[in-house]
Order: sequence, then C-alpha cells, then structure tokens
Amino acid sequence: MSDYMIRGTAFSGEVRFFAADTKETVEEARRIHNTSPLCTAALGRLLTAGAMMGTMGKSESDIVTLKIDGDGPVKSITVTADINANVKGLIYNNNVELPLRADKHLDVGSGIGKGMLSVIKDLGLKDPYVGQTALRTGEIAEDLTYYFAESEQVPTSVALGVLIDRDMTVKAAGGFIIQLMPFASEETITSIEKKLSEFDSVTNRLDAGEDPEQIMRQLLGDIYVEENININYRCNCSRDRVKKALVSLGRKELQTMIDDDKNVNLHCDFCNKDYEFTVDELKEIVNVI
Ligand SMILES: [Zn+2]
Repeated sequence: MSDYMIRGTAFSGEVRFFAADTKETVEEARRIHNTSPLCTAALGRLLTAGAMMGTMGKSESDIVTLKIDGDGPVKSITVTADINANVKGLIYNNNVELPLRADKHLDVGSGIGKGMLSVIKDLGLKDPYVGQTALRTGEIAEDLTYYFAESEQVPTSVALGVLIDRDMTVKAAGGFIIQLMPFASEETITSIEKKLSEFDSVTNRLDAGEDPEQIMRQLLGDIYVEENININYRCNCSRDRVKKALVSLGRKELQTMIDDDKNVNLHCDFCNKDYEFTVDELKEIVNVI
C-alpha cells in the first residue's frame, strides 16, 4: 500500500490542513465490499474523510466513526478510523446504480438522499462525543463542511473524490480538509477562497500525477508539513475479539448453539473474514464463563 496523507499548517499557522491520497485504500474497500462504481465513490469519499479525521485525535486509543444514514438506496455507510489513519468501512447496499448527473459525475447525492451525518468520537471517556448534522447534499464533502461549521464551529473546506476507471477499479482517490484558525486574517481567507474557486478537483490533480503536498502548495502557497502518515485499510478484528463477543452472548445463548451441534461461523462485515468455532470450542468457552 502506498497511500499516505500529510498534515500541517500554512499562513503562519492561521490555517491547518490535511491532504490524502487514498487510491489503494478505496480499491481495497471496493474489493472487500464488491461495490458498484457509485457505491465505491460514496464509501471511498467517507473512508478518505475518516482517515484524515482519525488523525485529529489526541491519544493512541482515540477512535472516530463517521456514519451516514440517508433515505436513498445506499441507506447507510459507516467508517471507523484511528489516530494512525487505519481505516475501515461498511456500506449497507453495495450495488446501487443510478444515471450519471448532467456533469457526468456519479450521482452520490441521490444514492444517499436526505438524512443525517453523525461523527462519533470515542476518546476513552464514559460516553463518546456525538455530533450530528442534517445531510445537505449527500455528496459527503459538503455535508462534512457543514458538520465542521455547525458542530465544531470551525470554518472548513472539505474536498473528497474517487475516480473510477473503465474496468470499475479505482483510478484515483483522495481529498483534503482545510481549516481556518479563529485568528485567520481576512487577507488569508480571501486568498484561499480565490484559490479554491480556481481549483479543478482533487482526483483530477492526483490522476495527473500530483501528490497531496503539491495540491496543498497550489491552494495554500508555502506550507509546513508536520507529519506524513501512511493510510491503510485495516480491520482490527481477531479470533480473540470474536471470542470475547461470544462470551458476551452469555451462557444461555451459547448453550443453545452447543445444543444445535453445528460449527458456528462468525463473519466480520468490515473485512469479510470468517471465524469458525467448533462445538468443542464453544463448550470450552462456556466452561470458562
Ligand atoms: Zn474484520
């Protein structure tokens, strides 16, 4: 995997930015979830945002989950990321196909429809932080822009893109998040707005061979890169975790499974891995509860 992101500042700290190339990560998601082009784009955009937003956490155990629930045929998408840009995702309906928009883009907005965007930050406290905003367009980048403005009161520009190749694989994917600090000057804001209005699209730039750093220099001029972080599609499921989930079902439920006298197969929807437990193994688990 060669995906990575950069994070840093510009305009003497008046602006902070995150920019990512997520082609391999989105392609891995496409393979795992066997998504149609529209669904690859929708899931890929949210994965890209998740990878960047995960790194906004403060401690190693912080987890951010982005969830979209809409009334369109896609229904819902969930993405979870950690501070090291390990990201995984789920899409309720993987096979939505709709006519292209007038501008020849995939109609992600209609696929998702109207609904809610939730940002859940698990910071290791008793209750996670949950921020919710109504979806504006269902195109995801705009919806996140509104989320940052409304829930976090940070003026933000979000761009997310997935370009699909003729063979339906991912040709380019990536995005950026640019945020203004409270002390950003009018001059800085005007300069960035102008550059953004002239900018074509993040996937066009990536597809033309530019990297996240070059894209940020185009938009922000001199930048200071604080960190370079690899992005990976990674699921944290394991046999041990699945075992814990079985334990949490309780004695009665497990005994019913044992009485059925069949191996139990547990599937991880995030990575498509299967975990099989034999009846003997189930008996062992019951014995230690
Ligand atoms: Zn998994």
